[in-house]
Amino acid sequence: MKHYGLLGDQISYSLSPKLHEIIFTACNIEADYRLFDARDKFKETIKKLRASDIDGFNVTIPYKSQIIPFLDSVSERAKTIGSVNTVVVSHGKWHGDNTDAMGFSMAMSLNGVSMRDKRVLIVGAGGAARGIAYALSLSQVRSILVYNRTRERTNQLVIDIRECFKFNHTMSVYDYQGLKVDVVINTTPLGGSRYKDQLSVDLTDLSAKYFVDIIYNPAQTLALQNADQNKIKSLNGLSMLACQAIYAHEVWQKKAFSLEFYKDILHRFSEVAYD
Ligand code: NAP
Repeated sequence: MKHYGLLGDQISYSLSPKLHEIIFTACNIEADYRLFDARDKFKETIKKLRASDIDGFNVTIPYKSQIIPFLDSVSERAKTIGSVNTVVVSHGKWHGDNTDAMGFSMAMSLNGVSMRDKRVLIVGAGGAARGIAYALSLSQVRSILVYNRTRERTNQLVIDIRECFKFNHTMSVYDYQGLKVDVVINTTPLGGSRYKDQLSVDLTDLSAKYFVDIIYNPAQTLALQNADQNKIKSLNGLSMLACQAIYAHEVWQKKAFSLEFYKDILHRFSEVAYD
């Protein structure tokens, strides 16, 4: 029996256990997936995980950078992105990786959303934003603009997009109203289960044709409703969640899954996710 799980803060909303159950069944492996809520006890939870028989775990808000000093090694990709969302445990050693970037790209591709030549506005500059910015920098986008509550973090992400991701067409914005952009991506938790009543981004005065909200619970955030009102096509975070999780299994099981496998899991998960 294998043991996996999710490390985060107040994660009872997570659909990950349900999703991983579907993947375990599809892969014919006996395993469980538990939630490790480390609120106000991050170091203690890490200590417990270290002493446990866990085979691997995912990391979510707000620990994707905080986990790095506790790892024995980190993949080049996760190092470049500066964020770890997947940890492999092998012979007692912890190895960190990032599957958000691949998950985002696969989700866009499965939903027929092309980023090529698009002007993209990322709202937020945390771990998920970094993974998505990395994926975008490899997707032949025209430009990446970043808007975030804390300016220092906005500026740091823009510097990293230029220097670490080697993509020059990027800048920080301190106000997004009136901007000429094609795609807007919300990477903040606003609109999610803990912030249901908060609008992450008002799309009214933006020229966007497409809005991606990486929040998946609830299925319809205020920003997704705002996109509907402004006749902007949109996508919630469910497919990205599924794709980054399948990619985590590629890392844990050291194998590659076919496109058909991704489509099948996404289909099965979409049918039961909100039951
Ligand atoms: P994170 O590293 O903690 O970053 C959070 C970002 O949101 C930061 O830019 C932060 O701004 C901003 N933010 C937080 N609270 C805010 C508020 N009250 N008002 C305005 N901005 C606020 O978290 P993360 O790992 O990037 O995750 C962000 C969200 O994406 C979470 O809800 C997570 O569940 C979701 N997510 C979904 C998927 C998926 O597969 N669908 C994958 C990854 C993450 P500051 O810099 O100012 O603090």
